[in-house]
Amino acid sequence: SRQFTRPLNDLANQFNTLLSAVAGAERVFEILDEKTEEQEGDGFTILQDVKGEVRFENVTFSYEKGGDTLNDINFIAKKGETIALVGPTGAGKSTILNLLSRFYEAVDGEIFIDGVAISTIKRQNLREHMAFVLQDPFLFEGTIRENIRYGRLAASDDEVEEAAKLANAHFFIMRLPEQYETVLTQDGSGISQGQKQLLSIARALVANPKILILDEATSNIDTVTELKIQEALQRLLNGRTSFVIAHRLNTIQKADCILVLKDGRIIEMGSHEELLTKQGFYSDLYQSQLNKTSYALNS
Ligand code: ATP
Repeated sequence: SRQFTRPLNDLANQFNTLLSAVAGAERVFEILDEKTEEQEGDGFTILQDVKGEVRFENVTFSYEKGGDTLNDINFIAKKGETIALVGPTGAGKSTILNLLSRFYEAVDGEIFIDGVAISTIKRQNLREHMAFVLQDPFLFEGTIRENIRYGRLAASDDEVEEAAKLANAHFFIMRLPEQYETVLTQDGSGISQGQKQLLSIARALVANPKILILDEATSNIDTVTELKIQEALQRLLNGRTSFVIAHRLNTIQKADCILVLKDGRIIEMGSHEELLTKQGFYSDLYQSQLNKTSYALNS
């Protein structure tokens, strides 16, 4: 999933560079968007009230000419469902999410949101309906309040704090010397990896999107924080169509649908129970990991 975070990290880096030069985050967004829109050609559909049904239809993609990274991907995520993506490294999990968020364009086939082809929607407009919670959440030099509000710039102080509470972040924030006004460094030094995750969840809650893209962290997080993260994630997933590159067995078991990928294809699809009954690839993977760790289903 390092590949998946790359385009997002590029954006984060641009953001940080620009932030030091330009006053006001809104202007930063404008500049970023102008740049992307120039590169892509304009979309013409405006997506407003999204329900969150996502459909992949015969989607094929490759990063380079020759050889398909994704081959004939078909699935439907109904409004509010959680879709877990599992499979060996390099199988194409991140690539599916790169296409859904239009960091790359499908070579063949089409992706629809509520029946609208996403190739016709401006990226900025598309991503207004999405939030990203990534393994290595990006923070910028600014207060905790600003870092959470980055999810939705118009959010009030109350909304920021409400989101932090739901994300189980409020408690640790209140124990910091400057609380919500604590200034974070760009690499978030001073707070733990788990706390960064909680801030990232708070940011997504403030954004309140219909579609959620989540790359579960695999790093070692202490048990108490881990439980807080799991609880916060359940709140975040609730009522949103969510795509999770899942590492936690718990997340996978709870998913409405698991897409099992291998070599760029969906080889199995269904709930945890359905896939176990099938006694195929997933079931083997599951059995082989059962005695090891609950974090290893993707590696
Ligand atoms: P992991 O679990 O390791 O993150 P993944 O299932 O998410 O793997 P992808 O990251 O989608 O797999 O990668 C699918 C294939 O595409 C791999 O062979 C990978 O090397 C290749 N790939 C990924 N990103 C790029 C890129 N930006 N340019 C070229 N090839 C890429």
